[in-house]
Amino acid sequence: MRPNDDVVAIGGGFYGCTLALHARQRGARNVRVLERGDALLTRASYANQARIHNGYHYPRSLQTGLRSRLLLPRFVSAFAECVDDTFTKVYAIASQSSKVSARQFEGFCRRIGAPLQRAPREIRDLFDPNRVEAVCLAEEYAFNASLLAERMRTDLDAEDVSVSLETEVHRVRRGPDGTVVLECTTPDGDTEIVAGTVYCATYSRIGKLLADSGLPPIAFKHELTEMALVEVPEPIRDLGITLMCGPFFSIMPFPARDLHSLYHVRYTLHATWNETADPVDAYAALDALPKDSAFDLMIRDATRYVPALADCRRIDSNWEVRTVLPDNERDDGRPILLSRDHGLPGFHCVMGGKIDNVFDVLDALDTPAEVASR
Ligand SMILES: Cc1cc2nc3c(=O)[nH]c(=O)nc-3n(C[C@H](O)[C@H](O)[C@H](O)COP(=O)(O)OP(=O)(O)OC[C@H]3O[C@@H](n4cnc5c(N)ncnc54)[C@H](O)[C@@H]3O)c2cc1C
Repeated sequence: MRPNDDVVAIGGGFYGCTLALHARQRGARNVRVLERGDALLTRASYANQARIHNGYHYPRSLQTGLRSRLLLPRFVSAFAECVDDTFTKVYAIASQSSKVSARQFEGFCRRIGAPLQRAPREIRDLFDPNRVEAVCLAEEYAFNASLLAERMRTDLDAEDVSVSLETEVHRVRRGPDGTVVLECTTPDGDTEIVAGTVYCATYSRIGKLLADSGLPPIAFKHELTEMALVEVPEPIRDLGITLMCGPFFSIMPFPARDLHSLYHVRYTLHATWNETADPVDAYAALDALPKDSAFDLMIRDATRYVPALADCRRIDSNWEVRTVLPDNERDDGRPILLSRDHGLPGFHCVMGGKIDNVFDVLDALDTPAEVASR
């Protein structure tokens, strides 16, 4: 049996699209992206905090901090037109309940080589000095998720990668001659697609596809999240603020809407669960969630640290499932998941805990499996 495609990426998020492009650039002839939605990059690749991590966020995971430092310049150079570097990034350390002190944070930034300096007076004055131990200027950017989606579409067209929208993969199984068969629904009805190599890049829905296909499970933790989209008052307009390190908040420009996104470590999470052997569909769980905004709780807490935030106005919220590897709960690290031949030769599961990690996946794919596993 000849495959319809050499390579198929299931999931038209940033990861699926990038994997498809990579396959094409490595010489695969017929490459296809299968996406259940009616457009690319509409799920987690859109509804996230748009932060291009530069390491600061991970004082409890040196490896993720260091990797972020290496990956940010790659992302910025590859997707320059999608990057917003026009705002000032502030990291502040809470004086109570923080998992790191200002001294530890500064030491960590030195270790990973991340630039950090004490903020000038006009920025320090935005913070309640009784609640914040230090206020620092950092170098970190945001990406415009809408421009990133446009860029992906342009690149896929330029590389002749086929994109099948409104196409959902329900099961995968072993086909003849080492192929993988994908059972799909499309706008024209049910069909089967046969591929030589398949990347499963469905993020929060990887586990469901594995279970429905009778393939080995992977341990995931899911979170139903709300990111409030807000208009910020004047003194905050050109700032991104992150309060470290614990049950605090972060407010960042969200360039795709020309608003700021407000994330609160406690109130953003509306529900969490560890995936079981019989996983629920994470999208269905999110659809069923009453969308009662926790913005009031988020902003009430954030205002204790930055009083000017009281004048934030909520315009909207992005709701999305965030999926992490439970092993990294303690240190908040964000390694990639790349499980090759996952229960089926030619079927590879891929998940990155953050956008820039995609380069780690590409590097790993360019490394022969026997070297990578040493
Ligand atoms: C609240 C939140 C905040 C975050 N903040 C940041 C941040 O600031 N910086 C950062 O770098 N990262 C952040 N992340 C993580 C980042 O969003 C993800 O790492 C990244 O978007 C994952 O991309 P993806 O392509 O794997 O997933 P997605 O973009 O979700 O793509 C998966 C695609 O698969 C499709 N799909 C699902 N099931 C099927 C199926 N069976 N058949 C066909 N198609 C299917 C979906 O429709 C979707 O388009 C955050 C995530 C969340 C949720």
